[in-house]
Amino acid sequence: MAAQKALVVGAGIGGLTAALCLSKQGFDVVVFEQSNHLSEIGAGIQLSPNCSRVLHYLGLEPVISRTAFVPEGTEIRHWKSGEMLSSIRRRQSPVNNSSPYYHIHRADLIAALTESIDSNPRIEIHTSSKIEAFQQEGNVANLILDDKEISGDLIVGADGIHSVIREGLFGDDEPQFTGNVAWRGLVPADKFTKGLVRPVTGLWWGPGKHFVHYYVRGGEMINCVCVVEKKGWEVESWTERGDHSELVQEFTGWHETIVGLIDAMETEVCYQWALFDRAPLQRWGSGHVTLLGDACHATLPFLAQGAAMAIEDAAVLAASVATHGIEKGLEIYEQLRKVRTAKIQNVSRRNAKIFHMRGINAWARNRVAGIATKNTMNWIYDYDVLDVV
Ligand SMILES: Cc1cc2nc3c(=O)[nH]c(=O)nc-3n(C[C@H](O)[C@H](O)[C@H](O)COP(=O)(O)OP(=O)(O)OC[C@H]3O[C@@H](n4cnc5c(N)ncnc54)[C@H](O)[C@@H]3O)c2cc1C
Repeated sequence: MAAQKALVVGAGIGGLTAALCLSKQGFDVVVFEQSNHLSEIGAGIQLSPNCSRVLHYLGLEPVISRTAFVPEGTEIRHWKSGEMLSSIRRRQSPVNNSSPYYHIHRADLIAALTESIDSNPRIEIHTSSKIEAFQQEGNVANLILDDKEISGDLIVGADGIHSVIREGLFGDDEPQFTGNVAWRGLVPADKFTKGLVRPVTGLWWGPGKHFVHYYVRGGEMINCVCVVEKKGWEVESWTERGDHSELVQEFTGWHETIVGLIDAMETEVCYQWALFDRAPLQRWGSGHVTLLGDACHATLPFLAQGAAMAIEDAAVLAASVATHGIEKGLEIYEQLRKVRTAKIQNVSRRNAKIFHMRGINAWARNRVAGIATKNTMNWIYDYDVLDVV
């Protein structure tokens, strides 16, 4: 019997992982990407054990561990004094032990995924292919591209927060600007005395702002994410250059480590990104068409779980349709994923408020942070997604 054919829209982290998971479950896969090349630029990403588990299952461990950095833990600090408010070491658990916490450059992650796809005869990728819409007739699902129809057994809309597949399923519904802007930049590690920037995920809480730093490229570069509450600037793009002098101004008066990191940032790769999200969806698909990743659960980066959820989605989707057939499998996929991803979205939103507290609220938060943050991530990291289907 011929293999079933899955059409994946979008070659971001979610779409590429879905292609690999679906092919591992016996599907032929065609991926359509609107950009003319596959890449994510200028920033790092944290991959927690719940998602690195899937990447290892796909055989990517040797490539990822070559370029990633494994942090000792997370340290939360006061924005001005640098006082340590909480130190969370990586703990031992069945998932954690076999799947490390990685910090990786996004371009290195995309390269690892595409390297595996290039050597996989079941997967084709078409770049410069912007999908306009889809149609379903019985068991056939068609994508529309340049007035042509491409037929498959399954469509996966992994086309991000402005998804055309979601719009086709449920109508237009604009994402909401959250009032936060993220700056992202890289700093060469050799600009700092060894040991000055700790080998951890560094999280600094300040009034109306927070700052995250961690090593990527095996420790050669430091990735910085600087989030600032801001009104009236709502450009959502990975490639919108930020004005470095504005960033310097935003963090004036912060601890010398943060001021030093901003000063040392490579200004030509300093980007700005307005943070949008949307409420959890009631449904993710219909018939032979479904959604995955930011297309169905765009998530603020305050838990570092947006891409992790897209990667988890990919594993559950593929196993579910392979086990239960497409229509039933997609229903089960939705049931298995909706509660967890909605909780992640909601906790990320709540963290936006906690990280940026001011005055007496911030003082009270800092007093309890050491205890309050100890085990809060276990339900996320210990989740064994390969076991759920
Ligand atoms: C500042 C910041 C920091 C973050 N840090 C983390 C982190 O540390 N850890 C983590 O897990 N997550 C993090 N995230 C979230 C994470 O980046 C996203 O959740 C993740 O990239 C979503 O992947 P995706 O594949 O679903 O969507 P996208 O990355 O948006 O990919 C969608 C793809 O679809 C393509 N596309 C769109 N429309 C079409 C079309 N019509 N036809 C063809 N192609 C199309 C796009 O070009 C794109 O390549 C962060 C986000 C931000 C903003």
